[in-house]
Amino acid sequence: MTVLVLVEHDGGAVDELSLQALTFARSLGEPEVMLVGGADAVERLDVATAHVAEDERLALYAPGAWASALGEVIDRVAPAAVVAAGTNRGNEVLAHLAARRDLPLAANCTAVVAENSAGGAGAEGGGLLTVTRVRWGGSLLEEARVHSQLPLLSVAPHALPAAVGEGAPAVERFAPAVDDADLLVRVAEHVDEVTAGISLAEAKVVVSGGRGVGSADGFGILEELAALLDAAVGCSRVVTSAGWRPHTDQVGQTGTKVSPDLYIACGISGATQHIAGCKGAKKILAINSDAEAPILANADYAVIGDLTAIVPAITAELRKARSP
Ligand SMILES: Cc1cc2nc3c(=O)[nH]c(=O)nc-3n(C[C@H](O)[C@H](O)[C@H](O)COP(=O)(O)OP(=O)(O)OC[C@H]3O[C@@H](n4cnc5c(N)ncnc54)[C@H](O)[C@@H]3O)c2cc1C
Repeated sequence: MTVLVLVEHDGGAVDELSLQALTFARSLGEPEVMLVGGADAVERLDVATAHVAEDERLALYAPGAWASALGEVIDRVAPAAVVAAGTNRGNEVLAHLAARRDLPLAANCTAVVAENSAGGAGAEGGGLLTVTRVRWGGSLLEEARVHSQLPLLSVAPHALPAAVGEGAPAVERFAPAVDDADLLVRVAEHVDEVTAGISLAEAKVVVSGGRGVGSADGFGILEELAALLDAAVGCSRVVTSAGWRPHTDQVGQTGTKVSPDLYIACGISGATQHIAGCKGAKKILAINSDAEAPILANADYAVIGDLTAIVPAITAELRKARSP
């Protein structure tokens, strides 16, 4: 039974999450892969066949056109299921495909079992799968049944090991038939982000602020503390929505997921969607004026009080401790 996997790559380096999707696909059948460009990347893929869509207009990303190309390969290969990494792109391309072909999409799966003795999904296997998938920003796992002749499944990031190996897949290059409508949304250019200081995703300490900080200027005391701790500054979504900080600073389900040694949450209530981004921290220190704030349930340490007094007091103590 063939399972078609959409593999993402960056300039020929296969994305780690796509390799995890490949591991997932192997639990269903024999994977074949489709890439957009990147024929050089296939050596890292231990599969029999790699279908490589070649068209410069699709190279950077065009969700509709990628879905169109994937559809062409589906028509050729007749897979029993289609799998992609649960990245923004993987989920978006599968969503396009689902809408075009009226197929169900189960996103963010961590496991799959074919519910028949033939061990097959899709057309060969009678079309019933049980999937386990991550819901609610990682706060629950759902078991769901997918009835379809062609199930579309995306794989939750970091739930499975990457399929590492070397292969010599047969490369089938093709020029996908895309029309203007497919290219209405496409990435035309990449501009490298100019970052200053420590990256949020890799910082060992993150000093993060929420609505309780009060204003863009209010982040001054958090910046000061962060500078002393070699920390990155993060924030909640309320803060980015208010325009106090850029979206790149947002921690949470729809922001960056951080895993520092210490996460200092200042004036953040601890909504599930925020916790989804910081629960990987080894220790959480909450600074909040409300002793009943939900963040306290996730915090290892808490200081109850006004952050405008507490944060400068911590900074002053650190300076004192470090002065000769
Ligand atoms: C689909 C979806 C995705 C979302 N994604 C994200 C996401 O990625 N990240 C995210 O953060 N949110 C996200 N949210 C929003 C989330 O639900 C919350 O609304 C948000 O996290 C609340 O931000 P906050 O804690 O800063 O504000 P609030 O909930 O208003 O909390 C402010 C806190 O500050 C405290 N406080 C006030 N003044 C002070 C003071 N002077 N000193 C100390 N403490 C003080 C208060 O006691 C309170 O606990 C998402 C929501 C949805 C629906």
